[in-house]
Amino acid sequence: MTEPILTTSPPETGPVLLEARGLTKHFPVHRERGSKRAARLARRSAPTGDSSQARGVVVHAVEDVSLALSRAGITAVVGESGSGKSTLARMLARLIIPTSGELLLDGRTASTSNRDRREYARDVQLVLQDPFSSLNPVHDVRYHLARPLLVHGLAKRGAGLDEAIKGLLERVSLSPADQFLGKYPHEMSGGQRQRVAIARSLAVTPRVLLADEPVSMLDVSIRLGILNLLGDLRERDGLTILYITHDIASARYLADDIVVMYAGQVVEYGPAQSVTDHPSHPYTQLLLSAAPDPDRVEPPSLQGRGSPPSLVSPPSGCRFHPRCPHAMAVCAQQTPPDAQVGSGHLSACWLHAQGLDTDQARPLAGRPDSRPPAPSRSTPDPGEET
Ligand code: SF4
Repeated sequence: MTEPILTTSPPETGPVLLEARGLTKHFPVHRERGSKRAARLARRSAPTGDSSQARGVVVHAVEDVSLALSRAGITAVVGESGSGKSTLARMLARLIIPTSGELLLDGRTASTSNRDRREYARDVQLVLQDPFSSLNPVHDVRYHLARPLLVHGLAKRGAGLDEAIKGLLERVSLSPADQFLGKYPHEMSGGQRQRVAIARSLAVTPRVLLADEPVSMLDVSIRLGILNLLGDLRERDGLTILYITHDIASARYLADDIVVMYAGQVVEYGPAQSVTDHPSHPYTQLLLSAAPDPDRVEPPSLQGRGSPPSLVSPPSGCRFHPRCPHAMAVCAQQTPPDAQVGSGHLSACWLHAQGLDTDQARPLAGRPDSRPPAPSRSTPDPGEET
């Protein structure tokens, strides 16, 4: 196992409810199943032709990610497609078994007994990206909301069940509730379907909601309504929310803290305002420069090139180094250490490390010297808490 690239510490604002320690997920590539793609990946991973190496080929989807979600807090996980965000959410929901690492709910390790798994499933609910495929097209809203209530013994058939369902619809602002009970998914808009999906998750009174790109399939005009609904659920019900997105602007709007992931690793973590106002990792800077900003006068200058790396054989050292405009020799050789760049704000980048020698700090072979003059927030501001 590689060294953790970044370990996020619990926010100062509240006790930790759900914590992940060193979560790693490697998906094996099944060469024997006959896929030409798998065989090609295996050959690429074992360039010397060593078949024993090729047999152990894995996709390094998530690597040593630690994360702490505070009670009634909203944490956003931001990154491009393939960065491991959704795999992380599925591990937190216990739909995918981690290769290694530990999950703690209320400070207790999540056990594998059937009773504990059921309790965990009630406490930690996942909302999926596409509400059209996450709802069953042959069932109406009443069925979707009644099922979790009945399965978990939270309501009995009869008038009480209908009241509970209507209460759920009101909570997600689908009113008058009577009008929605008999509707099928194809009879509702994308925003209404996503509200029903959220109501279904709320049926079992969860304490943590893992929202995996909940607005990316929706029209821009109705995204804000869903984001505001998540904010209301936190304010009103004290729900802890993990908001997964590739849109750093919406993460800033909604979240208290932002975790930036690249190629399966966390590269920057901190309070949302600090991360977006003072991005310290070149990948975060790239994400921000690509985000639409109506207040920006100048067109964005994109700092970075290329595409995400193969996760079958990820780049050595810093995984961002093939794309990074500031890459140094050390970046291709060693995993960057965590550096504190502000109050509660951490960055895994050699630009913020102290004591590099001249050889380590020389530009990567074939690259011009384009390092920034000096990181403006490489050390905590005087008076800031550390
Ligand atoms: Fe990675 Fe080096 Fe670029 Fe920092 S400067 S992001 S460590 S390649």
